[in-house]
Amino acid sequence: MASEKEAALEAVPSDGPTIFDKIIDKKIPSSVVYEDDQVLAFRDIAPQAPVHIVIIPKVKDGLTRLSKAEERHVEILGRLLYTAKIVAKQEGLENGFRVVINDGPDGCQSVYHLHLHVIGGRQMNWPPG
Ligand code: C5P
Repeated sequence: MASEKEAALEAVPSDGPTIFDKIIDKKIPSSVVYEDDQVLAFRDIAPQAPVHIVIIPKVKDGLTRLSKAEERHVEILGRLLYTAKIVAKQEGLENGFRVVINDGPDGCQSVYHLHLHVIGGRQMNWPPG
């Protein structure tokens, strides 16, 4: 399997459907840890830590990446961040965790449907690679 960096460099930034649409539609399986009418959170298939959850908006509405965010997205952006807190608590990450948004090729983004990574369960390093 290609590394995450290779996958990101091969990914073509576009507004088209992504693998996350199939996850939202339950056409491919995922390990869902939280869901409401606006967001879906599931375990990353290639976890980078003992806990690694991906949180996505159910409706993309042009939010392929953070750099495409517009004023109309403010509410869902807040909802995604708040969901990170809910999920971290649910996963027992009382000692802390990290929230990451990769944007574009330089940011190592491989799926063009905005998403947050919640990563925890081990000591993180700084700066990230
Ligand atoms: O930020 P980035 O775009 O690189 O993150 C996409 C994430 O989605 C990756 O961490 C990848 O492992 C995850 N993924 C997943 N299930 C899939 C496809 C991708 O958890 N079916």
